[in-house]
Amino acid sequence: DMGLTYIFITHDLSVVKYFSDDIAVMYLGQMVEKAPSDLLFKNPIHPYTKALLSAIPLPVVDKDKPKRQLIKGEITSPVNLPDECRFGKRCDYVQECCKKGNPQLREIEPNHFVACSCV
Ligand code: SF4
Repeated sequence: DMGLTYIFITHDLSVVKYFSDDIAVMYLGQMVEKAPSDLLFKNPIHPYTKALLSAIPLPVVDKDKPKRQLIKGEITSPVNLPDECRFGKRCDYVQECCKKGNPQLREIEPNHFVACSCV
């Protein structure tokens, strides 16, 4: 309405949800998922997005808390990026196909883009 655009950068996706029309998730300088906010929260696809969403603090008692998806492994050096998926060393779903180049964003449903070889 005001001809105005904000780019808001944070690690706290719970804030982003209420602030943004669209969310782009980045890992090591690359956009790995992009979708309208509601769609991203309803149907996260990239393993890094899922881990970020699972890290959102929830005001619920322990027995009702969903299990957190912890990210393990070493962060790839940003000055020596691999020719394969940049998240591959930390991804629980890595497969042989993940080593065939760094996946680029592709539309997997209307307005929902993901950079993962396995979806
Ligand atoms: S391409 Fe493979 S390693 Fe990369 S995010 Fe997808 S499943 Fe994980």
